[in-house]
Amino acid sequence: MALALVLAAVSPEIGGVLVRGEKGTAKTTMVRGLASLLPAVRVVDGCRFSCDPADPDPACPDGPHAADTAVVTRPARLVELPVGASEDRVIGSLDLQQALGAGQIAYQPGLLAEAHRGILYVDEVNLLHDHLVDLLLDAVAMGRSTVEREGVSVAHASRVVLVGTMNPEEGELRPQLLDRFGLTVEVAAPRDPQLRAQVIRRRMAYERDAVGFAAGYRSAERELAERIRAARARVGAVRLADAQLVTIARVCAGFEVDGMRADIVTARAAVAHAAWHGRDAVVKADLRAAARLALPHRRRRNPFDAPGLDEELLDRLLDAEPDPEGPSTGSGPEDDGGPAGEQGGPRPSTSSGHEESSGHEERSAAGQEGACPEPVDGREESEPPSPSTGSGQEGRQTIARAGQTYRTRRFVVAGIGAGEAGRRSRAVTDAGRTIGVSPIGTYGRGLHLPGTIRAAAPHQRARGRTGGGLVLRTGDLRRPVTEGRESNLVLFAVDASGSMAARRRMEAVKTAVLSLLLDAYQRRDKVGLVTFRGDSATLALPPTSSVDAAARRLDALPAGGRTPLAEGLLCAAETLRIERVKDPRRRPLLVLVTDGRATYGPDAVHRSRLAADELRRTGIGAVVIDCETGRLRLGLARLLSVRLGADHVEVDDVAAGTILDVVRRERAA
Ligand SMILES: [Zn+2]
Repeated sequence: MALALVLAAVSPEIGGVLVRGEKGTAKTTMVRGLASLLPAVRVVDGCRFSCDPADPDPACPDGPHAADTAVVTRPARLVELPVGASEDRVIGSLDLQQALGAGQIAYQPGLLAEAHRGILYVDEVNLLHDHLVDLLLDAVAMGRSTVEREGVSVAHASRVVLVGTMNPEEGELRPQLLDRFGLTVEVAAPRDPQLRAQVIRRRMAYERDAVGFAAGYRSAERELAERIRAARARVGAVRLADAQLVTIARVCAGFEVDGMRADIVTARAAVAHAAWHGRDAVVKADLRAAARLALPHRRRRNPFDAPGLDEELLDRLLDAEPDPEGPSTGSGPEDDGGPAGEQGGPRPSTSSGHEESSGHEERSAAGQEGACPEPVDGREESEPPSPSTGSGQEGRQTIARAGQTYRTRRFVVAGIGAGEAGRRSRAVTDAGRTIGVSPIGTYGRGLHLPGTIRAAAPHQRARGRTGGGLVLRTGDLRRPVTEGRESNLVLFAVDASGSMAARRRMEAVKTAVLSLLLDAYQRRDKVGLVTFRGDSATLALPPTSSVDAAARRLDALPAGGRTPLAEGLLCAAETLRIERVKDPRRRPLLVLVTDGRATYGPDAVHRSRLAADELRRTGIGAVVIDCETGRLRLGLARLLSVRLGADHVEVDDVAAGTILDVVRRERAA
């Protein structure tokens, strides 16, 4: 992480750093630490866009600046972008009322202007609206930010070191956005006790005497800052040989990355890495370090694949041809760590770090369970058990693994919602087909100009208009009402009882649910998982945007025991009730995976009917995936779907299928 931040500081054109990792790993502390290492900047006094007096932005909205303008020197800024920030706050706002009425452009700069020549830090970048992430990444790539409102535009320089941090357990970035971050790093807390002890020691020393603690690092910090400054001065002159471009291309092709962005970023990062090490030409160690940071998130992959890079493959690809700069300096990854690496101390290898970190995520997420009663062996379920432990303790319990996923039918919530943009159910959203206009109190994105003029036109005489300009009031402004698609909460309630445990059947069920999870990922849904078997139901995964966490839980789910259907339905109802309080705009879709049997406790069938009636009263959209197989069928799941007012789908019909299949299904229904 330190190396990635330093390279981005040396060369912001690399395009930002994305830091992924669990909570409590000092991600934010590290980013804030970087700010004090950046060289101070000289700026034109009074310019809100931080123009460099030596090279002012010719298009500066506060310009042009005179050659003898007053100059101030200030530290480089660290600007933190809050997750709830509006577009206006990020790129600045144009006062349209003034532009349309008085013909003057009044521009209020945003965070991108404030962060120019400094760092822009977005914590929880995965929770930021896609549209804003796009804007940020565009500005970083171009080094300029442009605001455009109905044909009026203002642009200013915005050369920022963009750093985003995220906890993947709380939801992934879309792959399209992931690819646009220059570098990514995975962070995990160290597992080495010595290293952990050192963290505690330093933290306690800091708490005892913060000033003295900082003073102890002052000279090391000054050295680092000087090294960054020197690397910045050097980076423009670093040579990258043609043969090395070919090597970069071979490495990128070897890892099957999409597009060309990986190649370009790797080249830039290698140059920055050479400058950081005081070299005038790129060597193999620079290429290797750059590839390790630029490629892992760009491999063609499925959201459930493990992160990281195959280091052996990387070395084979790098070594395919001799290095034109002679033998490498021998600096391996241990030597490239920048500030952290130089402090010494062992670091966990990338691969073991990942394995351990995913194990830890499992545990921490399991700690959030609790809305529904946990079974006695709940703790064991939350770990990915090996087949032997799964079947060793309880003879009747088996774990079937899912097969190859497939494209599924799209299940939707009926009616028109108003949830977050996504790709599932119909909804009034920020973008999409315009279906009307509505008044707005404040101007913002998506002004509907014809609607606004129509609203203002009848009042022109009364408002005393004499000249050519339109007399506009805030109340005239109209914004388009558009219909697109929303994302939903897809809550899976999966029967894992003995009647489902036949290996082939559980395989088919897991494959279907995994396919639906993949579909939910692509449609940007939140997902949750309730399982029921034995004597109780468990909220195995509280609603989250982390589809891969759901996939891991599902894959490790054992099956066996009686069928507490009523408990499963009530647990689902309770989970949905809580979620409605937390996130009222998001409409839920319940996917109930069952053969319809209820065999646990007294009056099992009667109680499950009552539970179904209660779920139906909440008005929730539901689909019953019918898992009953065999020659003699009871049709219980179909009866349950009628009771719930839910769609009924056979497990073998979850796949999208061909047009003919769809027609056949419609006819049968
Ligand atoms: Zn300026």
